[in-house]
Amino acid sequence: MDFFRTVANFVFGMECLGCGNSSERLDPWLCPACAAELVRESSSPAFPNEDAFCLFPMRPLTRRLVHALKYRNIPGLASYLVRRSSAVKGMVGQELLMLAQPLYFVPVPLHHARYRERGYNQAELLAAALATATGGKVCRWLKRKTFVVSQTKLSKDEREMNVAGAFVPNFPQKMIARGSVVVVDDVFTTGATTSACMAAFGADFALPLKVCTLLYDEPSTAAADFAADCQADWDGLRSRR
Ligand SMILES: [Zn+2]
Repeated sequence: MDFFRTVANFVFGMECLGCGNSSERLDPWLCPACAAELVRESSSPAFPNEDAFCLFPMRPLTRRLVHALKYRNIPGLASYLVRRSSAVKGMVGQELLMLAQPLYFVPVPLHHARYRERGYNQAELLAAALATATGGKVCRWLKRKTFVVSQTKLSKDEREMNVAGAFVPNFPQKMIARGSVVVVDDVFTTGATTSACMAAFGADFALPLKVCTLLYDEPSTAAADFAADCQADWDGLRSRR
């Protein structure tokens, strides 16, 4: 099996998504050195506030992987990253288990134009992987209302204003009485997106609300990443027209 994979890597030119090396055996996306680095990174989950849990810190490797998940059409990376996260079995998993059960993982919805472009919502795939790991459920309880225009030139406050009100609830008629809601996204930057999602549940919402993301981007680097991210989203949309 390893032999065939090595041959396939050679024939099809598959490269490690972390370092670009194609001479090593991949698992199927990372070479052994990058796979080991990913496991090390997951021993440093982040808790940007008391309601938010992030599986990995933003590092060059994790940045490349989340970029590949979003822009290189590799949806399988979502469950791969959750399975490789020791935080899901460790600190983050413990935080989730301490919440009222069952857990309802609610993905941040993607705008339909981006969904068409990408073919999948990475937040939904992450929610599914988290639900599998913790015995929870995926619930599409939010909808995106307005198209959030490119935010690259906006300040933090303006970005929060822009995304606030972008989500509306899409609950079942008969709301469940127990459990906890975990809003799932790929990257926690300023927290504006997930805060807008939590606000959409309304002040009367009775269940505990938490946030779980794949990566945490520290505010000092988040502005540049956010700009690059929006630009890439925007470029992707433009190229379709
Ligand atoms: Zn590598």
